[in-house]
Amino acid sequence: MADCLFCRIIAGEIPSNKVYEDEKVLAFHDIDKKAPVHVLIIPKKHIESVAALEAADSETVAHIFNVARQLAEELGLKDGFRIVTNTGKSAGQSVNHMHFHLLGGREFGWPPG
Ligand code: 5GP
Ligand code: ZN
Repeated sequence: MADCLFCRIIAGEIPSNKVYEDEKVLAFHDIDKKAPVHVLIIPKKHIESVAALEAADSETVAHIFNVARQLAEELGLKDGFRIVTNTGKSAGQSVNHMHFHLLGGREFGWPPG
């Protein structure tokens, strides 16, 4: 999608600080981090949000969680981490290309705001 920020990052048109990449998935540091570790993990396929997922995307989503687990280990998040996926306007989704926030390195409150 030409007008999608994350599709443009995948295409290399906008630079990002990458931490992981394979044929299906890209992970990069969030530009405005909310924790000492704040990585975004995204599918290379443009999927608007969790609400737009199709059954055929199941393998990609499972793969994203495996990448998250691997990155949490590599980035030293031994004490815990949080994976967040804002979906839709009222949940605060600001980029309409599905992404998983991997957050760690501090204590987190519950419930989230
Ligand atoms: P959302 O608000 O949709 O859950 O998350 C979007 C995230 O993308 C935000 O945490 C925001 O800081 C991040 N973001 C927005 N623009 C850019 C960018 O150009 N580069 C990077 N690395 N992150 C971005
Ligand atoms: Zn996109």
